[in-house]
Amino acid sequence: MDPLAVPLTYFEPWDREFAAWVAAHLAYGRVAPMLKAIRCALAPLGSHPAAWLRSRNQKEARKTLESALKGWVWRFHTQPDIVDWILTWKRLDEASGFQGIESHLLPGPGASADESLSRLVQSLRLDLPQSRGTRFSLPDPLEGAACKRWRMFLRWMVREGWPDLGQWKHYPKDALRIPLDTHVSRISRMIGLTTRATPDARMVEEITTALRLLDPLDPICFDFALSHLGILGDCPGVRSLPGCAPCPLVAICRAGVTKRKTP
Ligand code: SF4
Repeated sequence: MDPLAVPLTYFEPWDREFAAWVAAHLAYGRVAPMLKAIRCALAPLGSHPAAWLRSRNQKEARKTLESALKGWVWRFHTQPDIVDWILTWKRLDEASGFQGIESHLLPGPGASADESLSRLVQSLRLDLPQSRGTRFSLPDPLEGAACKRWRMFLRWMVREGWPDLGQWKHYPKDALRIPLDTHVSRISRMIGLTTRATPDARMVEEITTALRLLDPLDPICFDFALSHLGILGDCPGVRSLPGCAPCPLVAICRAGVTKRKTP
């Protein structure tokens, strides 16, 4: 199951945005315990978490969350990390006049999408305590990081239509970049979307540029299909018949072929 399943259980747009903020942040590691950690982190805020946060001041919300999430942990993230992350959404939402956090990530005159993301990351690095979890949460694309979970959050919020939420109306869809996980990087190499070996910001750029040739307005509409081909375990990693016969990529896949050709 995809972590996006958690925000989709909420009905109100701000609740979905907030749940996506938490779910994308914790979306790493094994799926079943990861989903449990996300649901446990959200549980104290009830079925309307955005309203819950907006109706309390920072001090009250922190006190309640620290008590309710005592003992909560998900791999690199501890209880203080998740409380800070939840209250960061509250602070950003308040700063935008209770319009969610889109305005903090918008590209605009003088700032590309990655420059906007970098600016927010750098300001959060100054605001949040320097824990292991916080460092893991705040990669900077301008420092060469792939920023998979940030890019996944942006995809969820911006792209409309299943499975994404499509709530942000100002962020340009063509500025999104591929959320690079091991499956997307492996399959992208196999079908010639990238020649790079390291899954970093340059690979993100290379794959997104290649996908832009296929769909300039919505280059990452292929992300869900690429990643789930790997997640579902349907790709053996070496092209073989009949194993690969049902795969729609079989005509261009170079997996297992030593001489590289441009598809
Ligand atoms: S053709 Fe086979 S190896 Fe290539 S992407 Fe499809 S399933 Fe994977």
